[in-house]
Amino acid sequence: MKKILLVIAVAVLVIAFFALDLHHILTLDGLKASRERFETLRSASPVLVTLAFFGFYVIVTAFTLPGAAVMTLAAGALFGLWWGTVIVSFASSVGATLAFLGSRYLLRDTVQKRFGDRLKAVNEGIAKEGALYLLTLRLVPLFPFFLVNLLMGLTSIPTRTYYWVSQSGMLAGTLVYVNAGTQLAQIDSLSGILSPGLLLSFALLGVFPWISQRFINYVKRRRVYARWRRPAKYDRNLVVIGAGAAGLVSAYIAAAVKAKVTLIEAHKMGGDCLNYGCVPSKALIRSATLVHQIQHGERYGLEQAQPQFSFRQLMARVHAVIRAIEPHDSVERYTALGVEVLQGYARIVDPWTVEVALNGGGTQRLTTRSIVIAAGARPLVPPMPGLDDVGYVTSDTLWDEFAKLDAPPARLVVLGGGPVGCELAQAFARLGSKVTQIELAARIMIREDMEISELARASLTRDGVHVMTGHKAVRCEHESERKFIVVEDGKQEHRVEFDVLLCAVGRAARLTGYGLEALGIQTQRTVQTNDYLETIYPNIFAAGDVAGPYQFTHTAAHQAWYASVNALFGDFKKFKADYSVVPWATFIDPEVARVGLNEQEAREKGIAYEVTRYGLDELDRAIADGEAHGFVKVLTVPGKDRILGATIVGAHAADLLAEFVLAMKHGLGLNKILGTIHTYPTMAEGNKYAAGEWKRAHAPQRLLRWLEKFHGWKRGARS
Ligand SMILES: Cc1cc2nc3c(=O)[nH]c(=O)nc-3n(C[C@H](O)[C@H](O)[C@H](O)COP(=O)(O)OP(=O)(O)OC[C@H]3O[C@@H](n4cnc5c(N)ncnc54)[C@H](O)[C@@H]3O)c2cc1C
Repeated sequence: MKKILLVIAVAVLVIAFFALDLHHILTLDGLKASRERFETLRSASPVLVTLAFFGFYVIVTAFTLPGAAVMTLAAGALFGLWWGTVIVSFASSVGATLAFLGSRYLLRDTVQKRFGDRLKAVNEGIAKEGALYLLTLRLVPLFPFFLVNLLMGLTSIPTRTYYWVSQSGMLAGTLVYVNAGTQLAQIDSLSGILSPGLLLSFALLGVFPWISQRFINYVKRRRVYARWRRPAKYDRNLVVIGAGAAGLVSAYIAAAVKAKVTLIEAHKMGGDCLNYGCVPSKALIRSATLVHQIQHGERYGLEQAQPQFSFRQLMARVHAVIRAIEPHDSVERYTALGVEVLQGYARIVDPWTVEVALNGGGTQRLTTRSIVIAAGARPLVPPMPGLDDVGYVTSDTLWDEFAKLDAPPARLVVLGGGPVGCELAQAFARLGSKVTQIELAARIMIREDMEISELARASLTRDGVHVMTGHKAVRCEHESERKFIVVEDGKQEHRVEFDVLLCAVGRAARLTGYGLEALGIQTQRTVQTNDYLETIYPNIFAAGDVAGPYQFTHTAAHQAWYASVNALFGDFKKFKADYSVVPWATFIDPEVARVGLNEQEAREKGIAYEVTRYGLDELDRAIADGEAHGFVKVLTVPGKDRILGATIVGAHAADLLAEFVLAMKHGLGLNKILGTIHTYPTMAEGNKYAAGEWKRAHAPQRLLRWLEKFHGWKRGARS
């Protein structure tokens, strides 16, 4: 209501301005004609005229009325160069700020709500360098004054910043105009004041902030490198620390573009993913799924059966799978690709020198133009009393420890309700362990929508996992051979007895012990980098789990491209890491896969969305496969087919998601998915049917009613 009243007041003022013919006075000819009258008035009561002029100027600029340029000339003619400049400088800045506040008050919420996600980059840019952008816009008077006020009002730039940057940015232009006003009699046209030469000078002034930014960067660089002695030349173009997903891809790219690159790995080639993460967990899940399917053979028309298996053999298969994939990440393969691989522990000595304590003995020093830190993360172990006494496994130790067992642990406690905890809890429950999963938060898989968490919980519970959410693990205890974990739910403590405790509460970036501290490279939970993945040293980059914010193999590989390309070619062109479309999956049964926004995130970010859902229980292939459960859920921009995000729950959800990832990456909407032939009968048809659901909900009803009449008429015409 207040907003409507304000709009009405503005409209009335604008109409009055034109009705009172003020726009004719505020023309060059009008000014010249009434100059003498104004001068007489000013001599009679200078303070009053100055205040009235100031106030009128503020109104003209605040309401974007025509005449500000003429009034600036008038200021020169009436008050002279210095007073005129002072009056106009303040009046125009106050007016601009009022216009800016008007736009912010009336339009910003609506615009941010409507285009919030698309404005994300703009908002981030404004938060970082808003003052610089504004100064440029103000210095170059090519950008219309009112447009700058209107558009900046929609951003998050603080009002105070807006005021002072506007005032300083407009000062040069104000001086030029006011000065011209002192020579009013000789001015024939407004455009003449800004000659091409003058515009060029302004443009140069506009470039000045960028030049100064570059200069500041140069000074910062010099300062950060000041205490180190740069080598005269380097042995290598790139040294990569860590041979997990991020390190392998960085080294691969460097070798592919013929750079001299050394990859250093202290432990196992392939890092977490191959040795302790994705690969063994998915191999385990496959066996557990098979056990589960055999147990429920009646669903497929078989006799119900209890599968016979040796856990030792099952774990041997897990290790066999690792061995089968090992050659992809091996020293031999990378050496053949042109990468020098050193096995040892790397330490950054100075920004261009890395020292390697070789696993075989001895050390080696390498000088390099650039470094990529790809040191990964390690399992987080909570500081819990008694934990060390009872002992525990993590994703790092579990695979070797369990390989020694003849049977899965009878009672397994899984600490953590994230993706890794859920995947392993379900797999071991299916293999026969009595699993208790403990999670501090109110639900498991907290990043997903509530309905997904509930679905995952139901699925794990069905498989025998006792899911305890809202429970804090406080300590571990043992009584002779018996081991317990004590948890509390806010009211009371409970003891859970176990044979093995698996810590899966997250993974912490490796940040210490290899030189970051001595170099002063900033770390919080991860190595701090800018958008180009540069640390405070522009030749040292970080990628993968050590850099965050994601902890996936595919994001590590994605970042590796940016880190290595920026490291090798950043002098010519640098690329900002693009996280606009990041998919991920949790490989429980049913799989949960997501790309882009879910409902919970859209609400948090204030982004308007529509939900379209297709139930996979209706899909022919899902029914045939005995997998008729789950759904495809797509979030779109209201009234449009533009995809904001998709979540799929069901068999092969992670594979099905690829279509939405591609669509989002390349701006393809649901209409395009609907118009694409999908093979029958496949699970992928679920994506097309989801698009079909959206189409049905957005069918043009009025047109359809007309079509109905048209067909009726055609039937009548024919008969
Ligand atoms: C159980 C589990 C399941 C997972 N499942 C999936 C999944 O399904 N999908 C998915 O995308 N992700 C999954 N992940 C996550 C995935 O494994 C990681 O995101 C990925 O491995 C990160 O790769 P990285 O290169 O950043 O680090 P890492 O793979 O950890 O590699 C870092 C390497 O650096 C070495 N290193 C560290 N410091 C030094 C040093 N100073 N000198 C020399 N070498 C050093 C380490 O030895 C290590 O080998 C899973 C993780 C776990 C634990």
